Amino acid sequence: RCGFVAIVGRPNVGKSTLMNRILGQKVSITSRRPQTTRHQVMGIKTEDETQFIYVDTPGMHIQSRDRNKAINRFMNQAATQALRDIDCVVFLVDRTRWTEEDDVVLDKLTHVRAPVILAVNKVDWLKDKSTLLPWLESLQAKREFAAILPISAKHGTNVPELEAEVAQYL
Ligand code: GDP
Ligand code: MG
Repeated sequence: RCGFVAIVGRPNVGKSTLMNRILGQKVSITSRRPQTTRHQVMGIKTEDETQFIYVDTPGMHIQSRDRNKAINRFMNQAATQALRDIDCVVFLVDRTRWTEEDDVVLDKLTHVRAPVILAVNKVDWLKDKSTLLPWLESLQAKREFAAILPISAKHGTNVPELEAEVAQYL
């Protein structure tokens, strides 16, 4: 078995951190500065009979009104192309906050037929964990997600569970 998994989300949600955590090595640049990754970064993980090809997808947050700048146009195209022939999408958002940029990413996933798993990242930063569950439930209204999982890419919390979920769709 072999499949492509796209990691998408607005800048700074932890896409590169998640990819590095899954692959167990620093293949993707992580930074506090948004848009550090301008090109697609790929990594392959082989586990038993399954080969996961992870794609860190930049540019998903770029709105159509920003399309005129050459760099934006380039990133927009790369993002759209990355979603072709994808078997599964991991859509990353930040704990307890849904932004306009998250909506832009969600819009770009409208015509994606592959299952979309919503991963709510950085839950290690949550002071009050009791707010998490109601918030996760509220996100079910955004789209029919294959699953919604709270994770911490930095600490690895729930990341194996996320990988197991992904494996179902390859
Ligand atoms: P990207 O722009 O989506 O690729 O985000 P990065 O992976 O570069 O991460 C942006 C920032 O968030 C970095 O400073 C990371 O260390 C931090 N970060 C990523 N995941 C987590 C997490 O699970 N918990 C915490 N506390 N910080 C995180
Ligand atoms: Mg990145």
